[in-house]
Amino acid sequence: MGDVLELSPQADWVTRSLRSVWHPCTQMQHHETVPLIPVKYGRGAWLVDANDKRYLDGISSWWVNLFGHANPRINAALKDQLDTLEHAMLAGFTHEPVIALSERLAALTGHALGHCFYASDGASAVEIALKMSVHYWRNSGRTEKRELVCLKGSYHGETIGALAVTDVAIFRDAYGPMLQSVHVVASPDARLGDDAESAARAAARSLERLFEERAGNIAALIVEPLVQCATGMAMHDPLYLQLARELCDRFQVHLIADEIAVGCGRSGSFFACEQAAIWPDFLCLSKGISGGYLPLSLVMTRASIYQAFYDRDMARGFLHSHSYTGNPLACRAALATLDIFAEDDVLNANRVKAAALRTALAPLAQHALVSHFRQCGTIFAFDAHTTDATFSRRFFATALEHELLLRPIGRTVYLMPPYILDEAEIALLAERTHTVFEKVMAA
Ligand SMILES: *Cc1c(COP(=O)(O)O)cnc(C)c1O
Repeated sequence: MGDVLELSPQADWVTRSLRSVWHPCTQMQHHETVPLIPVKYGRGAWLVDANDKRYLDGISSWWVNLFGHANPRINAALKDQLDTLEHAMLAGFTHEPVIALSERLAALTGHALGHCFYASDGASAVEIALKMSVHYWRNSGRTEKRELVCLKGSYHGETIGALAVTDVAIFRDAYGPMLQSVHVVASPDARLGDDAESAARAAARSLERLFEERAGNIAALIVEPLVQCATGMAMHDPLYLQLARELCDRFQVHLIADEIAVGCGRSGSFFACEQAAIWPDFLCLSKGISGGYLPLSLVMTRASIYQAFYDRDMARGFLHSHSYTGNPLACRAALATLDIFAEDDVLNANRVKAAALRTALAPLAQHALVSHFRQCGTIFAFDAHTTDATFSRRFFATALEHELLLRPIGRTVYLMPPYILDEAEIALLAERTHTVFEKVMAA
């Protein structure tokens, strides 16, 4: 009787979790050899487990945590919000955090994208952008424009609609029969050309050919600006975004920028699209927007699109909703996150930190078994010369032994650290990554 409760609550977390929690993005049987880490608490860039072993969070807890764990400023904002309003429905009601956040984000686009629609996770934001696009064309009397285009290697989330525009076989193949068919065009991945610019031009030509044939039936092109993250940090030249924008304008196709991973300063500018000096028709944000605290996502769009839904007719409105749409706590965390950007001049500070990390990683970049060392903002990646299908898992486990949280994608090792690393942590991250890489390649 009461076995489970009498056990030391932390010592047995792993056994209990494996018995009752179905973990995401995991073949559960791999946990027979791959460790499951029971996290007790987080401070700054570090996670600490039940045995007081610590791990430098080199991937921002799946790309969400910008300013460290237990950030005092975000904590204070949330505590204040908790005593004010934890949640209220957003249909027929509004509240200060959602208003302030929408205004501030719109201002960050120079009011090009002045209307914000909220959801809770990235995939839902993608669904919203896709639905809004098709619905826009329908409201404009263009019911035939409902086909979608994505890039080779794209990743836009795991729900059925988002998965349809995702081109990562391991995530989509099992569900292929459930998914709408879409057009998949060439990726501008810089590794595919003689240089980044020619790769961008070649991909744009493939897009142009498709548009010449089918644009009359196409609602939208969805892209991950500058870095296709989940396929393995495939980076491209901003030129591609300019060319795609021109083609979308010329052929009357919406451009959806999925900035869920690359937004919020990750690419070096607040929005990745800024580096191409373009605005999309829809911009999706999630992940870092709440500082990594709470599920929050949103789609920003133009006044002209908003206006196409503004009507007496209910059915011309965008009748999409999620229960926690615009949750005040999540919005407040996002406002605290934007405050930190402004108060700490984060984009400039990140430039300095990224340059330091790049210097510290230089010896690894030169390693004989490393190719395509690349960087965009605070994302660093390289490809390992290996054919070992277990490389990623072995790297993950070895990194943990060296107090490092890194989780390669296939044979691509990447770093996407929180923005708050100090000099010592930058040096440690680079040095340990190098050590782990050599160990894993030698084994
Ligand atoms: C993570 C991610 C998504 C999905 O977001 P979730 O919150 O995991 O649903 C969509 N697009 C991109 C580019 C992402 O990196």
